[in-house]
Amino acid sequence: MNESPSSIPPPVGTVHLVGAGPGDPDLLTLRAARLIGSTKLIVHDGLVDPAILALAHPAAKLVSVAKSRARHTMPQHEINALLVAAALTGHDVVRLKGGDPFVFGRGGEEAEACRAAGVPVAIVPGITAATGAAAAAQIPLTHRDSASIVSFVAGQCKGLTEQDWSGLAGKGRTLVIYMGVATSEAISEKLMTDGLAPDVPVAVIENASRPEMRVLRGPLAGLPSLVATHRVKSPALIVIGDVTAEPEQELRKLALEVEK
Ligand code: SAH
Repeated sequence: MNESPSSIPPPVGTVHLVGAGPGDPDLLTLRAARLIGSTKLIVHDGLVDPAILALAHPAAKLVSVAKSRARHTMPQHEINALLVAAALTGHDVVRLKGGDPFVFGRGGEEAEACRAAGVPVAIVPGITAATGAAAAAQIPLTHRDSASIVSFVAGQCKGLTEQDWSGLAGKGRTLVIYMGVATSEAISEKLMTDGLAPDVPVAVIENASRPEMRVLRGPLAGLPSLVATHRVKSPALIVIGDVTAEPEQELRKLALEVEK
């Protein structure tokens, strides 16, 4: 028996996990910009800058699943279900995430959920906060003279208490901490207990690449007071290591060495 046209299921849509970068729309990839401008359903999280959402197609439906440490407006399993349901009813979806979808973005979980449901999924990389902030603050994450290892870690409670960070920071290393503002005191204590000197230079970069960006510097031991005094708020990154030293300080060190 032939199926009537109405009973033929619509073709399955594709879920694009798209990195929106650190904020500045100029830092989108061309592929991200094209998909944002042409896809009729955009599911985005709270970190995506309004200037990027403004690039959406006028007829696009924008769904916010805003997440922050304190506020979960939509649990992850519901986000997964939303993406899958939209694709199975024939819609292409842009799942827009701050930075890169596969760096602390739970993109892995969303891709798994799509694949498990037979929904095609494509990943569009974005500039992750670490490289975006490093560029904006002119802090090279690696440097031939001072850092040849760089690590990205999650600084929220679980990452802090369950992971071994020993060896990630120190001479020749740069440590970049995502989601670490609220736990900055525990972070500096943990690193100093692991043997890091209290005067290791640290930078905190808030709202990297956005007009309201702030870059604050100080020693590791002073990290909690730096965050508290300047009332640093999310999104902010903590970068630890010699690459964060003030350029003038580096020059002074060089001059002293030349004098010797
Ligand atoms: N997938 C994202 C990270 C999500 S986790 C990425 O690849 O960048 C969220 C954390 O990212 C924030 O707590 C903050 O530490 C960092 N972050 C994101 N955007 C930022 C920005 N514009 N400036 C500073 N840090 C940012």
